[in-house]
Formats: sequence, structure tokens, C-alpha cells
Amino acid sequence: MRATMIYGAGDVRVETVPDPVLREPTDALVRVVRSCICGSDLWPYGSMPAGEQGRRIGHEFIGVVEDTGAEVSGLSRGDLVVAPFVWADNTCDFCREGLHTSCRHGGGWGSNGVDGGQGEAVRVPQAQGTLVKLPVAEDSALLPSLLSLSDVFPTGHHCAVTAGVGPRTTVTVIGDGAVGLSAVLAAKRLGAERIILMGRHKDRTDLGREFGATDVVAERGAEGVERVRELTGGDGTHTVLECVGLKPAIETAFGVVRAGGTVSRVGAPQYPDVPADFGVFFRNITLTGGVAPARAYIEELMPDILEGRVQPGKVFDRTVNLDQVPDGYRAMADRTALKVLIQP
Ligand SMILES: [Zn+2]
Repeated sequence: MRATMIYGAGDVRVETVPDPVLREPTDALVRVVRSCICGSDLWPYGSMPAGEQGRRIGHEFIGVVEDTGAEVSGLSRGDLVVAPFVWADNTCDFCREGLHTSCRHGGGWGSNGVDGGQGEAVRVPQAQGTLVKLPVAEDSALLPSLLSLSDVFPTGHHCAVTAGVGPRTTVTVIGDGAVGLSAVLAAKRLGAERIILMGRHKDRTDLGREFGATDVVAERGAEGVERVRELTGGDGTHTVLECVGLKPAIETAFGVVRAGGTVSRVGAPQYPDVPADFGVFFRNITLTGGVAPARAYIEELMPDILEGRVQPGKVFDRTVNLDQVPDGYRAMADRTALKVLIQP
């Protein structure tokens, strides 16, 4: 079968790899129907040291179950399923607390002998706990939105939930990437009426408005902070959803949060120190967020997609086949594509 391999920065190849086989009784084999490229795949694509050995990549996919190990129940050959971006048993103490990203028997895709999702098929560890059945056919028009349940929609939702977004909270979302736009959608879904989106790509912020943003601030840095404060009577917003992961974004977050408010960050931080100084302390700001336990939210978010109330799949603005995956990486890296869907 064929799958995407990354060998180093800027070096993504589609190669022939061994067909997956069941190794553990808790495994399933899944034929991939849709996959996609994540903003977080751009970190290794931008900086991974070149090596002789490539590794598999991709952590978001929908597929059809082809085979299951002896200890997998509740899944059968032919089931259409979605996989969250971390696999987990869904039974340990952390999973029962909704923190599947800390599962005692879980792990990530694309390393340590585990397949990546950007290929024709995947061996899924802990399949019974990891995979969630989708009640649609494999040619459903809902697949892009259902694929967003792998990562970006639950990540935006996690950001809004941990920040405490609700009908009475004002919201600033920092970042107009797929996660930022998903955070806008999640905040709207949780009842927020005032959602300020900070982003400077007009086609993306237009989608943000469609998802529920009431204001768009294109300015960055001190100017952007000033603009959000103007829009909020000088105070800033109760909650700030930081969906970038770079130091200027977290600085902006502390600049636009209202006293007593909460900053949640779901952008993987590319900085070692949080700039939380005396001013942040004196204003009683809470910092929360972290990697999203997507598996914990899939059942809760899916009905809104199935019943047409939300269309998070609108973040996909380009579709490629497996051969075109390297082009997809280039397009996302140079920001000509927002999020790239892969149809193997
Ligand atoms: Zn677990």
C-alpha cells in the first residue's frame, strides 16, 4: 500500500510501505477514506532534521474497518469510523475523567511503530476505545465535517470549554487558522454572543464571520490589543481563546483579557516561558487549556454535524489525492490553503 512519509523539513514523500497487519488482539485494520493535513504537521515540515529514515505522518482520518483483533468488540468489518488524533483505550482512569490524551495505554500516530493517517490504510491500536462509528455512508457529503471530529473541531471546542465560554461571556479568538475558526464555531455553539476574531487573512476571517464572529480585528501586537479594548469599553473580553502557539499570540491574549478572565491556549506552544508578569497576576487572570482530548468530545459534537446545525468541514478549502500530498503540504506552508483534505 502507499502512505505519506516525512524525511525532514520540506521533504514529504508518498511511498510504498508494507500493508498493515493485526499485531495485538486490541488492533483493527482500517482502510482510509478521508484524511487531512494538520497545522501541527507543519511544525516537522518546517524544522525536522533531515534523516535517512522517514517516518509515517498524519493523525486525522475516517476509514472503513477491514479486520479486527480478537479482543475488539462493538466494531465490525464494513463500519465507517473516525479516529481522534490520539489513540486511547477509553477505559483507564484518565480516559474515564475525559482526559484521553493522558491515557495509560494510549499514544500518538506516526511514530514508535504506529501508522500515520495520511495513507491508504492504518493499523489502529486500542481500536475499541479509539474508533467512533459514523452513521453515514462512505460517500456522504458530511465526511469533511465528520473528519474535523478527529482534531480541529474538538480542539476549538476544548479551548472554549476550558475557558468557560457561555452565553454570558464575551470571547476573543486569536488566530484565523482552522483551529481558530473552529474555536469561533465552538464558542458560538456554546452560546457566546460577542466573539471577536483576531486574524488578518480576509478569506479566513470571512469564514469566521460565517461561523459566528461578530467582529474582526486584523491589527496585531499592541495595535490589535488596543483595537479589542476599544471594542469592549476598554476592558477586554472575559475569555480569550489562543489558537496560534507563538509568543506574540499569548502576549496578545494577556493584553485583551478582562480582569478576572480566562486565557485558554490550544496552539501547541513554540515558546518555553509564559509571559505572565505582575500585571497578569494583579488582574487575576487564569491560564488554562492544553492538548485537546478529542475522543472525549466526539459523541457530544457529532449530532450537531449529522443534523446540519454546524459545518466545521468548511475549513477544508482544497482536496488532493495521495500523489498530491506533497503539494498539499506546500500549499498549507505558504498559506495558499487553509486546510487540505486528502482523498486517497
Ligand atoms: Zn485510557
